[in-house]
Amino acid sequence: MTDIAIIGGGLVGLCAGLVVQHPDRRVTIVEAGNFDPKPVLGLAARSIALSISSVQIFRALGLWAKIAPQAAPIRHIHVSARTRWGVTRLHADDYELEALGYVVENQVLSDCLLQAVQASELIDLQQNAHFDSIDQDARVNIGYRQNDCREQVEAQLALIADGAQSPARSALGIDHQQVDYGQSAVISNVEVDKPRVDTAYERFTEQGPLAMLPLGGRKYACVWTMKPELASEISSLDDAGFAEALQDCFGFRLGLIGAVGPRFAVPLQRTGAETLSAGRCLLIGNAANALHPVAGQSFNLALRDVAGLYELLCEQPLAKLDTAAIAALTGQYELQREREQQQVIRYGDGLVSMFSNELPLLDHVRAAGLGLLDLLPAIKKQAAFSGMGLAFGGNRLLRGHL
Ligand SMILES: Cc1cc2nc3c(=O)[nH]c(=O)nc-3n(C[C@H](O)[C@H](O)[C@H](O)COP(=O)(O)OP(=O)(O)OC[C@H]3O[C@@H](n4cnc5c(N)ncnc54)[C@H](O)[C@@H]3O)c2cc1C
Repeated sequence: MTDIAIIGGGLVGLCAGLVVQHPDRRVTIVEAGNFDPKPVLGLAARSIALSISSVQIFRALGLWAKIAPQAAPIRHIHVSARTRWGVTRLHADDYELEALGYVVENQVLSDCLLQAVQASELIDLQQNAHFDSIDQDARVNIGYRQNDCREQVEAQLALIADGAQSPARSALGIDHQQVDYGQSAVISNVEVDKPRVDTAYERFTEQGPLAMLPLGGRKYACVWTMKPELASEISSLDDAGFAEALQDCFGFRLGLIGAVGPRFAVPLQRTGAETLSAGRCLLIGNAANALHPVAGQSFNLALRDVAGLYELLCEQPLAKLDTAAIAALTGQYELQREREQQQVIRYGDGLVSMFSNELPLLDHVRAAGLGLLDLLPAIKKQAAFSGMGLAFGGNRLLRGHL
């Protein structure tokens, strides 16, 4: 018996556990994988861009001091279009911020979250636990297989955080939509010989947008969007061929591209659940909305969703929630989160359609757009604040405290 069960202990499930734990509330996380120590991956590591809203939430959880020394700040963003004059620059100082965002390796983040979860007496983390059934009435019953045994956990509320394919979402009979943008992102870490301190680059090219995010030192994470056929061609080039193709497209702003890590081609898709709740269950993270990686928003949005849930839970002790009160809570959650989720989805869709369209006229429009954006501080500020997750109002966690 627990108060809140979380199905899925990925980045979002672990964060949700840390946010919703409370001396009056026990939390159980049911995770199919295990958290055995992983090897250090070097240039093969995957990373994630954290918005300032996420940093604030980690501050509130007392985790930022551990994550920060291992995260690379982005204090300047340089946006340009290949073969066009338009350039926009964003600087953290202009908004009196310490940074516009941070980049951290997924493994570093996951290790920090795991340590905090394991240190908590309020969270029970079940590993190698494969969810396979869900029933609900006066409580929600979650069945899972663990080491050839059938186990069950009963809770007042279940958070479904088992990823974009979400077996729990299917078991609840919640439909989902998938949008395929007909683009793929080639992702790789690279080393350059003239790194620019704390500077990220977004470059719009004939193939699609190319982002270079600082990872600290000479390392950058490249996220390069293009047609799927070209993506599979480019990602299968050998190291020298890939470095040459990237250099040709990005230019020499960071000097010569040297060592390159393994390449992954990720199709740009978006998955969205038709509804965020069913009875005593709430969908969070990729199970609710898996956005395409180029916008760098899915995780950041999911954290703000969890912060919104925290705010609602603060007002109502879970122990007193009967079925009608749970319905009110989940209904309020849907109502409060839907507007922001739709805004972030539209922002991501807009990025893909504006910067992937091949019409020559659009090419001029977006180049002019970049130039104009640089001259219109108010609009630039709005765009920057949307990206940082600061445009959607605040709550306790977003202000950096519990
Ligand atoms: C290339 C790439 C780059 C990205 N960059 C960014 C970025 O810069 N910024 C950003 O905000 N977002 C980014 N994202 C998105 C971000 O990675 C995801 O939003 C985030 O990882 C989703 O976490 P999740 O916990 O919801 O899902 P997942 O990471 O998919 O975790 C789901 C968990 O559920 C578990 N599970 C599955 N089935 C079961 C079951 N039957 N029983 C029990 N457990 C189960 C899995 O083992 C897993 O641990 C990026 C995504 C990609 C692909």
